[in-house]
Amino acid sequence: IRNLKKRYTKNGPLVIDDVNLSVDKGEFIVFLGPSGCGKTTIIRMIAGLEDVTSGEIMIEGENIVGKQPKDRGVSMIFQSYAIWPHMTVFDNIAYPLKLQKVGKDEVERRVRSVAQATDITGMLDRYPAQMSGGQRQRVAVSRAIVVEPKIFLMDEPLSNLDAKLRVSMRTELKNIHEKQHSTSIFVTHDQSEAMSMADRIVVIYKGRIEQIGTPMEVYMDSATKFVAEFIGTPP
Ligand code: ATP
Repeated sequence: IRNLKKRYTKNGPLVIDDVNLSVDKGEFIVFLGPSGCGKTTIIRMIAGLEDVTSGEIMIEGENIVGKQPKDRGVSMIFQSYAIWPHMTVFDNIAYPLKLQKVGKDEVERRVRSVAQATDITGMLDRYPAQMSGGQRQRVAVSRAIVVEPKIFLMDEPLSNLDAKLRVSMRTELKNIHEKQHSTSIFVTHDQSEAMSMADRIVVIYKGRIEQIGTPMEVYMDSATKFVAEFIGTPP
């Protein structure tokens, strides 16, 4: 990401103000910052759900700004899982493959393989209403990874779950990330979620990056007063 900026209105404030970031293949990156700092805006720009005011977003050397969301090689999951209540779990997961006109046998094979990774193989014939919140979130994750995205974007995917499930889903999402060899960007305002999941944390405040570092680095060696107060060791 190079010199990324965003205004929602012509003369409005820069809600993203010159963000620069380089992510390695296979990394699990967490965007951490308080409500309104711009986390969601950045990942929606990566996904193509929001226009870019200026700057570049490159994936494997190619500038994807201006490309259709479906042509970017990214998948996104949301806080509200956005799975379809009138479709079975199998059909929910198969949906993006059908849009891509993938053949029936291949759809069957890929849905079953992903369901194995997310541990919902026994539930493929159920409807979402017959599942728990955590299981539904696994369906949403399955549907996002079945297209084998280059980048997997997650916008506070655990915040609707109860405290216990939220913690166990952290490990599950990390396991899926490893198994799929994904590159992941995960948005949260929860410090402990960021500390326990990230390879590197990107701390964002008022539309700017305050610090990029491993959980240990941002915690032990905070770059700014804001980072120290938000996540670091107390003085
Ligand atoms: P949260 O953790 O609460 O979801 P966030 O860090 O994801 O917050 P954003 O949703 O990216 O923050 O919002 C960044 C800024 O942009 C905020 O000041 C917000 O009010 C503003 N903003 C977001 N969406 C719009 C919009 N559609 N029109 C105008 N301003 C917007």
